[in-house]
Amino acid sequence: MIRKKVIAGNWKMNKTATDGVTLAKDIAAEIGRETGVDVVLCPPFTALASVAHALEGQSIKLGAQNMHPEKNGAFTGEVSAEMLRTLYVTHVILGHSERRTYFAETDAFINKKVLSALANQLKPILCVGETLAEREAGATLAVVQRHVEGGLAGVTKEQITTVIIAYEPVWAIGTGKVATTEQAQEVHAYIRDLLTKLYGAALAQKVRILYGGSMKPANAPELLAQKDIDGGLIGGASLEARSFIELVKAADAAK
Ligand code: PEP
Repeated sequence: MIRKKVIAGNWKMNKTATDGVTLAKDIAAEIGRETGVDVVLCPPFTALASVAHALEGQSIKLGAQNMHPEKNGAFTGEVSAEMLRTLYVTHVILGHSERRTYFAETDAFINKKVLSALANQLKPILCVGETLAEREAGATLAVVQRHVEGGLAGVTKEQITTVIIAYEPVWAIGTGKVATTEQAQEVHAYIRDLLTKLYGAALAQKVRILYGGSMKPANAPELLAQKDIDGGLIGGASLEARSFIELVKAADAAK
């Protein structure tokens, strides 16, 4: 089963609209018509409209970093799926560990967002992964199971292949500590087994599972060569055109 690789850049709370346009244009100049890899840029909300404009006519997709599950209403500071759709957003990162940690997001709340994203034709990038304390306590697979099953509750067989899962060990995010290829592949294979139990083997084989956590051009080829690693969710290395382009090329070469 050949799954198209995905490289998604999570800019987090970085880049003004102006700086985001410069970065998006620099990336598009080199890989804008790339077809072998699905490339997604996820700027902050304030840069979505200008980056969408800068990407017009390119194959690079636009993602948001979060959204609220409700359609509209009294949710000060929040943004709905429908609002994102009007800005040509196609993907949305949900359940990132920074949202779980700093904004106390639970699996139940993340699940509502996943269902709302799908109902509004947005592709969720559902982040799952254990903390260092959980890994050291031998709880990695139990935590990942809780995040996957909790996040996907109610997602149908018809919807599951539009969901992208990102395994992001929290201890590897922004720390320079990348998971070993064996550690990453073990969890990716486990997630695919969980998907097989939930949706059957044929559909589970079609779901893209990304690795995230200090992925860089130097460590990407080995990670991307693993059987169940279908791309990367990139934080730090997505903020600079050269390193992000190298990651897209590494994913293309690993196909
Ligand atoms: C992330 O936050 O999704 C991430 C993977 O960050 P970094 O690449 O900087 O570790």
